[in-house]
Amino acid sequence: MKQQYQALIKSIIDISEQCRHPEPVKLLAVSKMQPEERIRALFALGQKDFGENYYQEAQKKIANLSDLAITWHFIGAIQSNKAKFISQEFDWVQTIDRTKIAQLLHLHRPEGAKRLNVLVQVNVNDEESKAGVRFEEIEHLCEVISALPRLQLRGLMAIPRATLAPGEQALNFSRVTAYYQQLKPRFGFDTLSMGMSADYQQAIACGSTLIRVGRQLFGERKAK
Ligand SMILES: *Cc1c(COP(=O)(O)O)cnc(C)c1O
Repeated sequence: MKQQYQALIKSIIDISEQCRHPEPVKLLAVSKMQPEERIRALFALGQKDFGENYYQEAQKKIANLSDLAITWHFIGAIQSNKAKFISQEFDWVQTIDRTKIAQLLHLHRPEGAKRLNVLVQVNVNDEESKAGVRFEEIEHLCEVISALPRLQLRGLMAIPRATLAPGEQALNFSRVTAYYQQLKPRFGFDTLSMGMSADYQQAIACGSTLIRVGRQLFGERKAK
């Protein structure tokens, strides 16, 4: 894992330099379905940000790894009855796609805690099966979130449809980047979360500032 980690960090730096990326690109290690020892090992190598998708699994891991100063990101689908847990246990939530969830996360964020960092998830290809708002709904949801003082809106997140055509994926990423850039001055965005194991290089070239990588780092996930 050490080799994969170092190779990935180097690759992020190389691509950023090649395409003269204006901002440093951060790495989120997606640890869903990966054992705790692997998270500990990666943390020991210097990785601080980890992403989880499933409540029960995340609850256990966050408790068992509470001795480490990990920054936890929630990147899964949010059910309203789980908003309380997510808001109390995570540092970031990348998957907000409706007003009600934003309000619940705000409501349950403990007083005195740091603001919860959040991203609005965009449904790039308008897929029925996928979470996220359509492009034309981004601005309104951002306005709603900006008015909630316990949330800190940091930017946008997207999971475009997996495609084998590189040109098509670049187009998907670039569309999200255009919205991100347009809204950035108004909402103070600093995070554009795009790119996974299969397409992170292209995502960085298209303007992503945070890539979410699982298998490329940890190896294949165990079946649930
Ligand atoms: C699982 C997951 C990833 C990581 O995918 P890999 O292909 O393992 O890199 C990234 N983002 C989200 C939202 C995920 O659910």
